[in-house]
Amino acid sequence: MSDGLLRWWAPHALPVTAPPARDVLVTVDPASGRIVELQAKVSRERAIELGAELHDECAIAPGFVDTHAHLEYAAYDALVDGLTFTQWIGDHIHRKRRLAPEHMRASAELGALQALHAGITTVGDASFSGDAAHAMHAAGLRGRVYLEVFGSGEDDQAAATVDAALRQLDGLPSSDLLEHGLSPHAPYTVGEPLYRRVASTGLPWMTHLLESRDELAFLEGRGELFDSLTRAGIEPPQWMQAPIDALADVLGPEVVAVHLTQATPAQLEVLADTGTALAHCPRSNARLGCGRLDLELVDRAGIMVGLGTDSPASSGPLDPFAELRCALEVHRATSGDATWPSLARLLRMATLDAARALGYSDLGSIDVDSHADLVAVHVGTCDDPLAAYVLGATPASVQAVLVAGRDMGVRDRTRLEQAQARARDARTLLALPVRREGRAAGTHA
Ligand SMILES: [Zn+2]
Repeated sequence: MSDGLLRWWAPHALPVTAPPARDVLVTVDPASGRIVELQAKVSRERAIELGAELHDECAIAPGFVDTHAHLEYAAYDALVDGLTFTQWIGDHIHRKRRLAPEHMRASAELGALQALHAGITTVGDASFSGDAAHAMHAAGLRGRVYLEVFGSGEDDQAAATVDAALRQLDGLPSSDLLEHGLSPHAPYTVGEPLYRRVASTGLPWMTHLLESRDELAFLEGRGELFDSLTRAGIEPPQWMQAPIDALADVLGPEVVAVHLTQATPAQLEVLADTGTALAHCPRSNARLGCGRLDLELVDRAGIMVGLGTDSPASSGPLDPFAELRCALEVHRATSGDATWPSLARLLRMATLDAARALGYSDLGSIDVDSHADLVAVHVGTCDDPLAAYVLGATPASVQAVLVAGRDMGVRDRTRLEQAQARARDARTLLALPVRREGRAAGTHA
């Protein structure tokens, strides 16, 4: 058919907003980049007649929406183990300083292409250098780059920091697919004036919040993280009260709070009352020994929560399927219930809910008029495609990816392999050991 429409057929679809469907034909309008129709019970023969692209043994699903990532750390790949949170972040900063701008750029390019090849079509990226914006733009990903800011100074200093960040954002690519935001890093590196300045810009923002016990101790003016910052000659931000309470009047639906493993029920209530979304990064939290998000409590409060892969420096290689399974394992181990959280809930957390957490209203499901950001993932012959997808698929199972109705050509791995080769120097520099004695954490040069 030469009507300009793109058709995908597969034996299974996981629409997210509806139960799994059999023998599906998804029709996409590449001109609008949106889904035009989803039909079930369409035979393979009929699909051939219609000129559909056949994805045998596959499930068609919405692409993953990665609520919180750091694509430019792709080359870090979790090189360390067994460190406290303070030691880990100090180590991370120390390694990061070894990278020249071209290394960071190569690592960001690798991260963006790894994301695409793993079936991620939208990313909420917290970017230190801004390189993630260039990399996402070049890769054709949808998403928002939240440029990181740091500083514990008073209001004039905070204003200068935000002005500089806005100027830097002006120089970064933006498009129909790529938006900008800011990311005040965390309450141990950012003071209240800078948080308030960021909020006053009207841009969406994202912040790490109540991630570790070290951060809790820091907020009480003690502990390893506090000592480490002080030793490094850095003025730690002084919070007279818990940051969530202090910032309650500037929180809202345009804010994504990341982690919250140490949040109290009352703090989660504040997030719920303000409509603040939450990014849940279970692999990073588990590997760093930071704890577990209390998802039962989050649900009871009624907070929108999306899954995020966080930094490859803590989570390991970018893998949204591994992130899904980690969430399943962590929460089922503690719920003692083989049905909670359900596979459908977990997939929604990685797609539709993640999109909502980032503020997208027409993304993350296979529905008419939604953005045609789709993946075809090999699930083999199966009775339960949702189980095969969530429990069994890996990035290598991803056969095809559409972003805004455009085929991203992931079957050809040349670009990814070239990016891996270009990031090799960065990987080698990062892998050199870090001298542990007398080293202080907490700077961000
Ligand atoms: Zn992060």
